[in-house]
Amino acid sequence: MTLTAIDQSSQPALAALRWNNRFARLGPAFATVQELHPLKEPYWISRNAALARELGLDQSWLATDEALQAFTGNQPLAGAQPIASVYSGHQFGQWAGQLGDGRATLLGELQTPHGGIELQLKGAGLTPYSRMGDGRAVLRSSIREYLCSEAMHGLGIPSTRALCLSGSDDKVLREDIETAAVVTRSAPSLIRFGHFEHFSHTDQHAQLKILADFVIDHFYPACRDAAQPYAAFLQAVSERTAELMAAWQAVGFCHGVMNTDNMSILGLTIDYGPFQFLDGFNPGHICNHSDSQGRYAYNKQPNIAYWNLFCLGQALLPLIPQQEDALAALESYKTVFPAALQKRMRAKLGLLDEAAQNDDKPLIEKTLKLLAAHQIDHAIFWRRLCRFDSPEGRTAVRDLFVDRAAFDNWASGYDARRQQQDSAASTRLMLATNPKFILRNHLGEQAIRAAKARDYAEVNKLLTVLQSPFDEHEEVADHQALAGFPPDWAAGIEISCSS
Ligand code: AMP
Ligand code: MG
Repeated sequence: MTLTAIDQSSQPALAALRWNNRFARLGPAFATVQELHPLKEPYWISRNAALARELGLDQSWLATDEALQAFTGNQPLAGAQPIASVYSGHQFGQWAGQLGDGRATLLGELQTPHGGIELQLKGAGLTPYSRMGDGRAVLRSSIREYLCSEAMHGLGIPSTRALCLSGSDDKVLREDIETAAVVTRSAPSLIRFGHFEHFSHTDQHAQLKILADFVIDHFYPACRDAAQPYAAFLQAVSERTAELMAAWQAVGFCHGVMNTDNMSILGLTIDYGPFQFLDGFNPGHICNHSDSQGRYAYNKQPNIAYWNLFCLGQALLPLIPQQEDALAALESYKTVFPAALQKRMRAKLGLLDEAAQNDDKPLIEKTLKLLAAHQIDHAIFWRRLCRFDSPEGRTAVRDLFVDRAAFDNWASGYDARRQQQDSAASTRLMLATNPKFILRNHLGEQAIRAAKARDYAEVNKLLTVLQSPFDEHEEVADHQALAGFPPDWAAGIEISCSS
């Protein structure tokens, strides 16, 4: 294993940085060396101090022009090995063939106090996999990805993260003429289901094995000792994906484009496009205006994830001698997902006693039916419910319902169950489970509008609040509005695949 030497003379602040670009060393079958495609006169939009600290990056260096140029893809970073990787995938249920990093440049893998973390520039220009695209990302979608990946992390939901966001006045043509931006995102690995599908569908079985061994050795080492390591790996990915789906459903998150190339092999939320956190609770909600069939509607996500895992299982079959072993590995999803969701829903309701957990299923279903029937604001309902034990708190929940009788009927059943809980402990659990702040579409939209006018304060304010979404943030009066109902115009926001 060789570490690439760092040129300390040109980057003194980076002297402590170490790169170990393990994915790049897999070789040319997996990725292509990526050249720089500079953007004109880049400027900072936001830097994520919290993540910089975690990565062990020097804060003052991150503020420099050198960092700005490096994270816009304008200048090389010593020790990095920029590449674009090849993958394929199923898009909207159809085999789409080769895709790949069409606008993402993997800088390399940084050695951090938390292990190896890959840094990738999204929107840094053309790659061999750009197909008809321009290799760029526009400001609005980059702000959404930057904020949402950190919001998910703040919510405790596995996600890629975002270190910084830079922009340029260089024009990018979408439906309108827009400007370019680059998000520097990070994750232990950015490998997708689609990477495995690629090598399987192109009959490159030696490469498929190299990739599977790489992921198992670095991220799923326990599978190595199993009788069938690749089936064990499929099961482990199924379980992580099941946990992720439970987390999405519980918080009311719609991804919008759950193609297999947008599914992380580590069970992370990845590729933020037309995502949305629910406002009113509509289980059939479709957040992506390009999704005419509603394939990726909120309530379809758990089944779509299972379908996607089948594609992964299919791709891994050359490595799993008995098909039954692959099927058995996938079966685990069917038990892990409902159990994980039930655990999260019970926590949302503040139910602490484990003994009666299966008896809570009807209450959970009744609650979700109530919210759906009356289109109650998802996040506000759950947050207000945290104070149900106080008379004012209970009234605040009741006030969400026009049909008070329907609420009272539900509340009497909930009341009975609550009597069996320790009120203080239950409230604490609920406040740590039901966030006060989520990245609603209109909040993102407000930040985007301000940023287009070169005011980045809103982006930075949202970043701060969304990184600790369970806190009240009472000390800042200005933050309280971020926890309010969406304005009427929010219903008119249309987010599509265009990004
Ligand atoms: P997405 O829908 O963002 O997950 O992207 C699907 C595929 O299209 C991936 O291979 C992306 O890299 C590629 N892609 C999306 N937008 C662009 C773009 N502007 N330029 C080049 N490739 C793109
Ligand atoms: Mg994608």
